[in-house]
Amino acid sequence: MDYQQFAKVDLGFFPTPLVKLSRLSQALGCEIWMKRDDMTGLAFGGNKTRKLEYILGDALAKGCDTIITAGAAQSNHCRQTAAAAAQLNLECHLLLGGEQPEKAQGNLLLDNLFGCYIHWAGDNRKGEDIPALYQSLQAEGKTPYIVPYGGSNALGALAFIDAVKELAEQSRGLAFSRLIFASSSGGTHVGLMLGKRLFNQAFELVGINIDKDENPDMPFDGQILELARKTAVMIGSSETFSSQDLLLNPDYLAEGYGIVGAAENEAIALTAQLEGILLDPVYTGRAMAGLIDMIRTGEIRQGEQVLFWHTGGAPSLFACADQLDLTQGKNKQV
Ligand SMILES: *Cc1c(COP(=O)(O)O)cnc(C)c1O
Repeated sequence: MDYQQFAKVDLGFFPTPLVKLSRLSQALGCEIWMKRDDMTGLAFGGNKTRKLEYILGDALAKGCDTIITAGAAQSNHCRQTAAAAAQLNLECHLLLGGEQPEKAQGNLLLDNLFGCYIHWAGDNRKGEDIPALYQSLQAEGKTPYIVPYGGSNALGALAFIDAVKELAEQSRGLAFSRLIFASSSGGTHVGLMLGKRLFNQAFELVGINIDKDENPDMPFDGQILELARKTAVMIGSSETFSSQDLLLNPDYLAEGYGIVGAAENEAIALTAQLEGILLDPVYTGRAMAGLIDMIRTGEIRQGEQVLFWHTGGAPSLFACADQLDLTQGKNKQV
């Protein structure tokens, strides 16, 4: 397989560290390792940095000068896109769901610092207004490029094939039974699925579903399989996938996207207080809550060696202060 043909631009620092979480392991009775993609380096890091290396590489190769993407007000994807666009001297337009809040905090504060244009999209939360914006920018004489929602197209997924190669090289001598991660727009999931195949990794891939599935015509499972098919075709691979190859666990959706409950609060506090590592309230806090639950219920056996993929997102902690439970664990207000 050869995909060197795809243009790529350097945006982060790789390989990201692979670390053992000794104290969390001891507390939970399993051997837990973490892949630190929160440390990709681009504006507080995260999994979108990898995807943007290929997607913006393509934008530059096509001579584009303006980037458009969409997301939630606290989108980590939009923050990393805005930072990358600043670095690459590209104009950046973000279409953010909802209304402009009184005060910009967390990721939104950072978006503003990177000097991008912010358009409030109301109920059109998943980029529905992109075509209209594209046309108006084109009419102004710009050459716009659309980065898909969450950076989840075949080029974005390709970056996570690389990530599995990177992991395989780092983890010789280790034998992870499972790789657990937060899955939302699916690009990370697809790249990990293909990478697992192409680099013969034995772990079971456990995607923790973060976002409620609201599209009956094309549920997430179907979207992920379709993107896996497209990505395989794009790189000239004959790998095929069926629903048996896909594990997208819906057990931890709780109150829905971005609503921080007791399980997320416990996971965030445990990881902070035992390891000094920040999870985020929306994605990794929920995925870690899933891992903790699977250990406690015995679905993951004691002593199993598991890998948690930290996909980033901590800047949104600063926008969620009122949802964080500061009475958890060792925290004492004295
Ligand atoms: C975007 C994101 C994810 C999900 O990745 P997808 O490729 O969209 O499924 C997980 N964690 C964090 C912190 C993210 O920002």
